[in-house]
Amino acid sequence: MVGSVDPKGPAPAGSVGEVLQLFDRWGKDPYDEELSQLDHALQTAALAVADGASDELVAAALLHDVGHLLELAARDGRGELPTTDSGHESVGARYLTGLFGPGVTGPIALHVRAKRYRCAVDTDYLSGLSEGSRRSLELQGGPADATERASFEANPIHGDAVRLRAWDDGGKRRDLRVPALEHYREMLERLARGHSPVGS
Ligand code: FE
Ligand code: FE
Repeated sequence: MVGSVDPKGPAPAGSVGEVLQLFDRWGKDPYDEELSQLDHALQTAALAVADGASDELVAAALLHDVGHLLELAARDGRGELPTTDSGHESVGARYLTGLFGPGVTGPIALHVRAKRYRCAVDTDYLSGLSEGSRRSLELQGGPADATERASFEANPIHGDAVRLRAWDDGGKRRDLRVPALEHYREMLERLARGHSPVGS
């Protein structure tokens, strides 16, 4: 059941329908002052499509913050926002390993590291972050240090993670008209059908 989450994190997703249900139930929750979680996911995905991204990267863009929805589900929408970094990127990526391969889950797992990396290598990027994103940067450990930068660059999918990050940063507008969640269902089902979960 979507609402029951143990302290180690939720069990891997069992179906695309289950993931989309999370958006139905929690997507209206605010992402920031102006946007809902669902708006942010749909905008990020639409920017990925506009940039010619592969289906796997579009799925990653759409689902990159599913960890936040899982956190909302875990506390049934009650309580304050976390004051420590909750690791939503790893929670979300782990959850999605039930359905998708590393082409989807990898960039999701790295999307916070990609932000910390960009902040370290590009001061314009840092100053252009949204207010909420700058606030969470502190909780996430601030700009990457030299060791973190090197290990990020050594990761073969770091380029995809940086692309996802750019759509993520762009997907925070009030005026973007984008396709609805349902638009992506068939593609997600197709990707999930082509994936054999580890151990099966
Ligand atoms: Fe995020
Ligand atoms: Fe995001």
